[in-house]
Amino acid sequence: MRFIPWGVRSVVAILSALYFAAHAESVTYNAQVGDEARLSTVDIVSVEGQPCVSLKKLLADLGGQLRVNENTVQVSLRNYSAKMTIGDTTVWAAKEFTMQQPPRIFENDIFVAVGDVTALFVYAFNVDIKTGQPDQPGAPSLPSGRKLCVVIDAGHGGADPGASGQGAITEKDIARAIATQVAKLIGQVCQPKFTRSEDESLSTEKRVGIANGSPKGDVLLSVHVGTSNSKTANGFEFFCPLGSSDATAAKSLALARSMSNAMSESTGLMPRGVRQVPCRIFTGLQMPGVLVEVGFITNPTEEQLIANPEHQQKLAQGIANGIIAYATGKTQ
Ligand SMILES: [Zn+2]
Repeated sequence: MRFIPWGVRSVVAILSALYFAAHAESVTYNAQVGDEARLSTVDIVSVEGQPCVSLKKLLADLGGQLRVNENTVQVSLRNYSAKMTIGDTTVWAAKEFTMQQPPRIFENDIFVAVGDVTALFVYAFNVDIKTGQPDQPGAPSLPSGRKLCVVIDAGHGGADPGASGQGAITEKDIARAIATQVAKLIGQVCQPKFTRSEDESLSTEKRVGIANGSPKGDVLLSVHVGTSNSKTANGFEFFCPLGSSDATAAKSLALARSMSNAMSESTGLMPRGVRQVPCRIFTGLQMPGVLVEVGFITNPTEEQLIANPEHQQKLAQGIANGIIAYATGKTQ
């Protein structure tokens, strides 16, 4: 172009510098769309101060479509469709859900917050989508810069003391002591969120509701003690949801194994293992979940051990190390 006044040229130069600065970072998504594995690398753009990605580009790469009609955004992928409204966090899909940030219009495109991409694709289109490539099974799918939100659920509480042994200490107190320690130990790397921090009684539904509520957990850990008719049964044990093919079950298993290994290191005790069973805390839970039974309160020797603050600290350290290994993708 000729005859561009100097002033306009410098404005263009500044704008394009800003444009490239805003597009300096990108994120790669690895998605399983039906039986097809697809990749999408999208720029991270700051829209209204939020790191966002273009929904148009993501959908084009994943084989979906985007239609905008005034303030309404209609998105379809596979046989699913979802509707959003600009400036509103609600997504109307087969299951209605809420994003952390509303979709925004910018440069004739629709942008969603980086932190909302996974939830949007999983809930609206049943598409398993992860950041990074190649991605290891079980590793968390988090955009860079966001901490893994770990819901820590201390079992029982208030009028519900849980199990007890020969002594005065009950399951609710052991669970709360360990849960509190775990939160402290993972705080640098993860964002802990308690279902209860006080000695209060909560229904299982309420605990699941807190985990699924904002800020939504990425994983849940429920802390309990074990009981048995046999007074000699001992050791710590992990439970996670049934399933072999879905991502949530695989992630739950990876997290449980990571904690089991780390706990056997921190305590010097043999793990009883990881079992996939349908626990009530997993019903309706919208994230990977693990329930740990830290030891048998019905075994008099182990009852003393799990009531001991020093041993509780070792158990908490193992749980925390396992969570951190999972959060940082260092699980074997
Ligand atoms: Zn219990």
